[in-house]
Amino acid sequence: MSILSAVAIVLGSVVMMEVLAWAIHKYVMHGPGWGWHESHHRETDGPFEKNDLYAVWFSVIAAGLFIAGSLWWQPLWFVALGLTIYGLLYAFVHDGLVHQRWPFFVHTRGRYMKRLVQAHRLHHAVNTREGAVSFGFLWADDVRKLKAQLKANASK
Ligand SMILES: [Zn+2]
Ligand SMILES: [Zn+2]
Repeated sequence: MSILSAVAIVLGSVVMMEVLAWAIHKYVMHGPGWGWHESHHRETDGPFEKNDLYAVWFSVIAAGLFIAGSLWWQPLWFVALGLTIYGLLYAFVHDGLVHQRWPFFVHTRGRYMKRLVQAHRLHHAVNTREGAVSFGFLWADDVRKLKAQLKANASK
């Protein structure tokens, strides 16, 4: 495989993961999977929460793809790499910038990153399964639009 197609697969996988993560967050975690995700919308003791099990599952899937990619079909290996890069970006943006779960302070710089952090804080304005806004992790809508959406959801 050429380097160009490998890079395309990796980048495509990162983008695909954001779309997938958005859909899973909206329809699974705030749906039938709320039992695990609820912990993330509440104060929890200790460094871990039940919601982290989702990340564990994604790591298992990535590991499986790495193995399948090296045994059977090379493109899968690059999909796995994209998944892993997405996981690291998620850990940096979501766990680091937004929730400050790292043992050191992570600064938010730049207009886009600030919007991302603010948008996810708005996601946490609601602690219930229904009525939340902004389900993406690397992509966020305009903050004013999200605030209006939150208000509209609350008056439903
Ligand atoms: Zn949520
Ligand atoms: Zn969060």
